[in-house]
Amino acid sequence: MKNVVLLGSTGSIGTSTVKVAEDLPDRIRLVGLAAGNNAELLLKQARKHRPEAVSINNPEKARDLGKVFGAATKVYSGDEGLIKLATLPAADIVLIAIVGTAGLKPALAAIRAGKDIAIASKEILVMAGEIVMSEARKHGVRVLAVDSEHSAIFQCLDGKPSSSVRKLWLTASGGPFRTTPKEEFPDITVERALKHPSWVMGKKITIDSATLFNKGLEMIEARWLFDIGMERVGVLVHPQSIVHSLVEFVDGALLAQLSTPDMCLPIQYALTYPDRVPSERVQTNFTKLGSLTFEEPDAERFPALTLARRAGEVGGTMPSVLNAANEAAVAAFLNRKINFPQITEMVRRTMEAHKVVLHPTLEQILEADAWARAEAAR
Ligand code: NDP
Repeated sequence: MKNVVLLGSTGSIGTSTVKVAEDLPDRIRLVGLAAGNNAELLLKQARKHRPEAVSINNPEKARDLGKVFGAATKVYSGDEGLIKLATLPAADIVLIAIVGTAGLKPALAAIRAGKDIAIASKEILVMAGEIVMSEARKHGVRVLAVDSEHSAIFQCLDGKPSSSVRKLWLTASGGPFRTTPKEEFPDITVERALKHPSWVMGKKITIDSATLFNKGLEMIEARWLFDIGMERVGVLVHPQSIVHSLVEFVDGALLAQLSTPDMCLPIQYALTYPDRVPSERVQTNFTKLGSLTFEEPDAERFPALTLARRAGEVGGTMPSVLNAANEAAVAAFLNRKINFPQITEMVRRTMEAHKVVLHPTLEQILEADAWARAEAAR
């Protein structure tokens, strides 16, 4: 039995995690649930799973929830609430699925409290991969991947060191504009960008999948999770999203992990690791899949990949700047203030204006994040 704290329980990854816990009641107990604003769903989840503690970002909503729960369930709020949950004494593992940067401090708090962490929120490793991985080593805890690509690589590596790897290949669906000509990019509407061909996800990551910033962030995430140089992380466009990623070993052998796309699978693997536990949820019928195809990403139409590679190579505070400028740009696009190609343009210009701090402290990372948001807005 694993006692799990779930941060971001009301989101896309959060609700899939709740499903996994309901599939495996003898293996997974949800001891803490945290949400941003959706008190109604949090309450429903808490009534069913009876966690020891819940947290909601909004303090007023926390007060209302407190009146409903009584003494059996503690109710917290805000950033402090996330830290309380991440360090809950009963927790074995903390799964972080909060969109944006709010998961970084709880991730570090969980590690320092000796908890394993399962990371969906890629911002955490993009911003502070060096600090998070070194703290995890220091405290002897595991950092497990929830992202399907990194889970695939983790499964293929199966404990082999980075010295046995020639290249990690992250697959990308290519998003809804894989075949759209560049001239049409300025006319892309928010509605079209929010229609992902293979995954149903939160809005931010869906737009990131359309620009390919999502893959860029994943390249940096892989660099830290698997302790490998950026030059050994490649991207392959694979529109069917069946091969979730591949490892090319030094002897030329390639291992891949395949399944129909369903986030419940990598979530379950992270929460039951190192065991594989029976589940009927994900079924893959090869005879019905048809062909699996692979293409090189088009750097000309999707400059996000080049920007992310540069940010990962430069390192220091640059990945935080890429991440924060992209968050600001995606919000501006969703609010119809800028057009689709301007997302990448905003990130590029913010990166160009940044003075990098190498091997930054957490404070310097957060400063760079705030600076990039202000600069991107300017
Ligand atoms: P969603 O937008 O669907 O969900 C975000 C979650 O974060 C919600 O539960 C939201 O609460 C919660 N939240 C936001 N701010 C706070 C806060 N300050 N305190 C507590 N909770 C907060 O996003 P996704 O589930 O799609 O993505 C979550 C993360 O996982 C992202 O970093 C994304 O990149 C990553 N990821 C997602 C994948 C997917 O398939 N969706 C795949 C791989 C990675 P509420 O709704 O109550 O406001």
